[in-house]
Amino acid sequence: MKQILQDLSFNELKDLVAQAGEKPFRATQIFEGLMHGKRISSLPVSPSLRAYLLERFEDEPVRILEKFTSADGTQKYLFAFADGNVVEGVLMSYKYGNTQCVSTQVGCRMGCKFCASTLNGLIRNLTAGEILSQILVVNREQGGTLKDRKVTNVVLMGSGEPLDNYGNVIKFLRNLSQENGICISARNVSLSTCGLVPEMYRLADEGIPLNLTISLHATTDEARKRTMPIANAYSIAEILKACSNYFKKTGRRYIFEYSLIDGENADEEHALALCALLKGKPCHVNLIRLNEVKERALSSASEKQAYRFLGVLEKNGISATLRRQMGADIGGACGQLRASYLSETQPK
Ligand code: SAH
Repeated sequence: MKQILQDLSFNELKDLVAQAGEKPFRATQIFEGLMHGKRISSLPVSPSLRAYLLERFEDEPVRILEKFTSADGTQKYLFAFADGNVVEGVLMSYKYGNTQCVSTQVGCRMGCKFCASTLNGLIRNLTAGEILSQILVVNREQGGTLKDRKVTNVVLMGSGEPLDNYGNVIKFLRNLSQENGICISARNVSLSTCGLVPEMYRLADEGIPLNLTISLHATTDEARKRTMPIANAYSIAEILKACSNYFKKTGRRYIFEYSLIDGENADEEHALALCALLKGKPCHVNLIRLNEVKERALSSASEKQAYRFLGVLEKNGISATLRRQMGADIGGACGQLRASYLSETQPK
């Protein structure tokens, strides 16, 4: 694969244009075109500069392979990278704007038992520009521009563990909020992690004011180890300490994801244990009923159980929301679409 031009910040692009012997305004032209989701071959530049770029960089690092629309309006995309790898993304519409869920890796090596993204392990990290381009092409496909964006919020909750691809993700976050780019502020970005503690500390010192989300899904280390292998490396206590540090450094409250799995973590005793764990902490809990993945044996808690669980948290003063399952009819859970695409298209 060639290099990815969308990896470059505007300043890096200016250097490249100078190296190519071109006038500085060309950098603005190229950057604007790229931020509008254009491929190199359709940038409004001279044939010689286009040839210079195409020799070194991928013409179209991310392209939309397929798009599905759910009955609830959620749109799911299947993206292809220049090397033929695919990942998925989702665009969800809310009153305040559109949130895109992007992937940070092809596959994942975290091995969570309920998740479809990790079924075939980690294939590779995505570069900063490959992560950004998922947003650029969707904004374009939705008819958005840089002034009138159709993607306003971003969640790093597609396939991959963002903190396992630390450098590329940080670069992506910095490029995402550049003033003359698509300019999505880190305040409108949520980064979800299964709890890589050392990277959570590093993140707290980056000066990027994003929303930190931690996938908890259990209230004891023993139980967490049953569904999340990462629990063998870091305890819940260590995660909570890293969260407090994040709050101390950034002043931002943090969020826990808790997927309700029948017979595993969704009973009243678990709700009470969660309250005890989080009492008094500047946090919020997002509950979601497990999206059942056909390759996985786990079942979702019922709606009734989910409301009961929510009720216990509320009664105990823990701020919590029960999220709607969006796009369940189109493979809404991480990695489901890619998994079904791979099983349809690849020899067994
Ligand atoms: N690797 C990161 C981000 C990707 S997953 C992380 O672990 O946080 C985004 C969220 O979806 C995580 O909370 C993850 O645990 C959850 N998730 C994965 N598969 C799911 C499923 N089948 N049903 C419900 N939530 C799921």
